[in-house]
Amino acid sequence: MTATDPATPGATPATPATPAPPTLEMMIDGKPAPAMSGETQDVVSPVTGQVVARVPRAGQEDVDRAVAAAKAAFDGEWHTWSQTRRGQALQRLAQLTRDHAEELAQTESQNGGKPISSARWEIGAVANVMEYYAGAANKIHGETIPVSKPGFDFTLREPIGAVGLITPWNFPLMLASWKMGPALAAGNTAILKPASYTPLTALRFAELALEAGIPKGVLNVVTGPGASVGQAIAAHPGVGKVAFTGETATGQQIMRAAAANVKRVSLELGGKSPNIVFADADIERFAAESPYSVFDNCGQDCCARSRILVERSVHDRVVELFAAATLKVKVGDPNDPNTEVGTMVSFRQRETVLDYIRIGREEGARVVVGGGIPAEPAYAQGAYILPTVFDNVEQGMRIANEEIFGPVVAVIPFDTEDEAIRLANATPYGLSGSIWTRDVGRAIRVARAVRTGVLSINCNSSVHTEAPFGGYGMSGVGRENGMAAFEQYTQLKNVYVDLS
Ligand code: NDP
Repeated sequence: MTATDPATPGATPATPATPAPPTLEMMIDGKPAPAMSGETQDVVSPVTGQVVARVPRAGQEDVDRAVAAAKAAFDGEWHTWSQTRRGQALQRLAQLTRDHAEELAQTESQNGGKPISSARWEIGAVANVMEYYAGAANKIHGETIPVSKPGFDFTLREPIGAVGLITPWNFPLMLASWKMGPALAAGNTAILKPASYTPLTALRFAELALEAGIPKGVLNVVTGPGASVGQAIAAHPGVGKVAFTGETATGQQIMRAAAANVKRVSLELGGKSPNIVFADADIERFAAESPYSVFDNCGQDCCARSRILVERSVHDRVVELFAAATLKVKVGDPNDPNTEVGTMVSFRQRETVLDYIRIGREEGARVVVGGGIPAEPAYAQGAYILPTVFDNVEQGMRIANEEIFGPVVAVIPFDTEDEAIRLANATPYGLSGSIWTRDVGRAIRVARAVRTGVLSINCNSSVHTEAPFGGYGMSGVGRENGMAAFEQYTQLKNVYVDLS
C-alpha cells in the first residue's frame, strides 16, 4: 500500500503515543495517485472506532483519468498479449496473494471487523479465484457454426474494453476477485471502486498486480463515495460494462446510469434466503450447522439464510436445537483465532439492525435468543451485536421480507410442501436457499420450484469458485464464478466467410 506521511514538518502531534493514520493513494495507470482535489476520507475500524487510514476522495476528474488509463491499456500492450500469457500473469498474482495472505487477512479483519479466521479463509479464496481464472484464460474461445450457406461461419469471443467494478464491504477483496478474475482473464482492463468502509485490500492488491507483471493501466483502483465516484463509473461513456455487488436500490441506480451508453450490466444484489426444513430431515445436523449460514460475517452476507421455514410438527424441536446452537456461537474480538462472529462493519449498520430487531418485537415476533448488544464491558468499543433468533414470525412481517443484513433469523412454520414453496418464493428476492429432507424426490421437486439462483440440499454450501452464482428476481442480473462469468465479460462476434 502506498502511504504518505500527512504530518506537517515541525508540527507537534496531538497524541504522540498514537501514530497518525497513513494516507494512502489510489492506483491509476500504474502509479500511486491522490485525488486531484487533494481531498481524503477516513477509514474507520469498527473494532476500535479509530481512524485506521485515509484514502483519496476521488471526483469525476479522477474517474476520467482512470478510464483513460484503462482504455489506453486495453488498446496497448495488454491487447497484444496471448491469452496464455495473460493467464500466466494472473497465476503470478494468485501466488503473490498467497505470499501476502497474512498481511491481507489482517488488513481485512481490522478494516471490516471480521474474525481473523474468516479473513484468512477469504484471502485464500481470492487466490483460488485468481488461479481458476488464470487457468481459464486460454480456454475462452468461439465455435464454428454449420450455417445454411456454403461458406464458413465462426464466432470470436472478445473482451469488452474498460470495465467498471463496484464492490461492497462485506467480503471486500473476495467479491472484487470474482469480478477482476474473469474481467482480466478475458482481456478487459478495469476500474475498481471498493466500498468506502473497506477500500484497503483493493489498494494493496493493485500493487501486487503490478508486481505480478500485469501492465500499468490494466487494473486501476479509485476510492470515494459511491453516489459520486460509483455513479461516474456507471455513467462513463468510456466504460463498456459495469459489474456491481451491493444493495438492490443501488443496482437500480447503476442500471439507469449505465443506460446512457447502453453498457452491459451485471448485478449481484440482496437476498432473503430460506432454509427449508422438513420433518424427515436430519434435524440435529441442520441445527448444528445452520447458525453459520445466517450469523457468519455477522449476518452481512447476501446468501444469509435469514428465514427458517420449518414443518410445524418439528417446529418446537428445531427452534430449541437451533437456539442452543446459536448460544454456542463465539462472538468476540476479531483478532482472537477462536472468534466466530466479530463486529458489524460500522456502528451505523448496527443501528439499522437494532432498528429491525425493534420492529420485529413491535410486529409481535418473539426473541428466543439475542436481541441486542452484548452487555459485557469487553464489547463496549466495537460494533458488536448478538446473534438473534425470532420465533412466531409471519411472512407478512417486515423482518420476514426485508434484507436486514445482520445476524437476525426469522422462524416461520409451514404445514405442507406447497406452503413451504409458496413461502420460499414470497419475497421479491431470489438469491439462495437450502432444503433439508431425506426424501430425494421431494428435495428435487422443491429445488425445481424454488425461484433462486443457487440452492443447496442437506447443507448450506452453495457458493463455489467453479460454479455459477447469481440471483433471480430482484437479487440480480448475470452470473459470477465458474466459466459462466465469461458471459458477462466478453462479447460474441460472428464472422461469415464466403468460400467461392
Ligand atoms: P451499497 O449498494 O450501498 O454499496 C455497494 C457499492 O456501491 C459500494 O462501493 C458503494 O460505494 C457503491 N455505491 C453506493 N451508491 C452508489 C451509486 N449511486 N452508484 C454507484 N455506486 C454506488 O451496498 P452495501 O455496500 O451497503 O452492501 C449491503 C447491501 O448489498 C445489502 O443489501 C446486500 O444484500 C447487498 N449485497 C449483495 C451481495 C450479492 O452478492 N448479491 C453481496 C454483498 C452485498 P460507497 O461504499 O462509497 O457507498
